[in-house]
Parts: sequence; structure tokens; C-alpha cells
Amino acid sequence: MESSGDEHASSSTSATKKHVGSCHCGAVRFEVDIDVGKGASRCNCRKPDAFALVAGKESVGEYVWGASVSSRFFCKHCGTYCYGSGHLAQLGGDFVSVNFNCLDDIDLTQIKIIYWDGRNNNWAAGPRDEPWPLSAPASR
Ligand SMILES: [Zn+2]
Repeated sequence: MESSGDEHASSSTSATKKHVGSCHCGAVRFEVDIDVGKGASRCNCRKPDAFALVAGKESVGEYVWGASVSSRFFCKHCGTYCYGSGHLAQLGGDFVSVNFNCLDDIDLTQIKIIYWDGRNNNWAAGPRDEPWPLSAPASR
């Protein structure tokens, strides 16, 4: 089995940097160490030690889904989805994902989007640069 961690380690231009994020009302604030140049799907799943909730723990609500595989955390005041966490072997175990829309210092128009075929639970196919069809062609 290939190690998914190698993809991060093999980057020739590592630009991991601390970014600050917050919800709309500002009650929930967090910091995350990421390389936004790697794209918005692959790089936002990070090890938990790259993430820190710095304010508003009492304002965070939790939504658990996927048979408790993953949780999404949102601000109880303004409803903004800020970040998620969970455990998935395909992602290398424990992970944290952040909502790029919450980050203060990045230009979303400069972020590359990477697409997964989650609707078909087709994680083995890996990510690609174009959106996947809504249903598998063979099923129609
Ligand atoms: Zn808020």
C-alpha cells in the first residue's frame, strides 16, 4: 500500500504557512499550518497538530456524520462551518479539514480546486483537476 503521506513530503516547493481563520461573527477563531498552493482539496486535510482553535471553543457546535467517521464544527452564533475532523485510514488516520472561505489572508481566486468522486464513494480513483459526473456512466 502506498503511503498517502509521501505526497506531502515529496513536494519540492513546500510553502507551509500559518493562516488565521474565523467565522462570520468572529466568535470562533483558528490557526492552521497549510500550503494553499497545493490546492483546496488535497492540502486542507491536515494532521491535527497543524490546527489550533484559538478562540470561541464554547461557541462551537458539532455535527457528526458518516457513522461517526467525521465531525463538522460550526459557530453556534452565525452558523458558519469553520472546520472538520475525523479519522479515515485512506487519509492517513486522524485528519482536520478547514473551510478555506474562513481564512483571512488568502485569495480564493488563486486556489486550485481538486475534485474527488465522493458521490460514488470512488475514493480509490484519487483526485483530478475536473469535476466528476454526478452519477457513474455505467449505472445509466
Ligand atoms: Zn460566528
